Amino acid sequence: MDPNCLFCKIVARAIPGKIAFENERVVAFEDIAPQAPTHLVVVPREHFASTLEVTPARRAVVGELVEVAAQLARERGFADEGYRLVYNTNRAAGQTVFHLHLHLLGGRRFGWPPG
Ligand code: AMP
Ligand code: ZN
Repeated sequence: MDPNCLFCKIVARAIPGKIAFENERVVAFEDIAPQAPTHLVVVPREHFASTLEVTPARRAVVGELVEVAAQLARERGFADEGYRLVYNTNRAAGQTVFHLHLHLLGGRRFGWPPG
């Protein structure tokens, strides 16, 4: 755990978060500034900054983030309609929290290309 990391604090329940799912490796919680009717962030419990720090040892958990997101999309009823998964990486993509997270957005239509 990184004591200065917002998402580590949510994972550790040191600050409040609306947790939608958790297991030994992965936690999903509501984004505080939702950009869609459903907007969850899905994170590994392990702290690492971004997609640039995915290593062979982390491949499994990164895959599990996608699997958890898909299951949450099914449970919330928008899997068939469709949904958007996003990893923002570094400044040009607007990354603001440097603990890897997968955004799950659903419940509306999404434009392409993204802004
Ligand atoms: P990113 O811009 O990809 O780094 O995404 C960071 C996300 O974290 C943004 O969508 C924020 O709205 C969200 N966020 C910031 N603070 C919190 C918080 N305390 N609880 C939940 N989500 C947060
Ligand atoms: Zn962290």
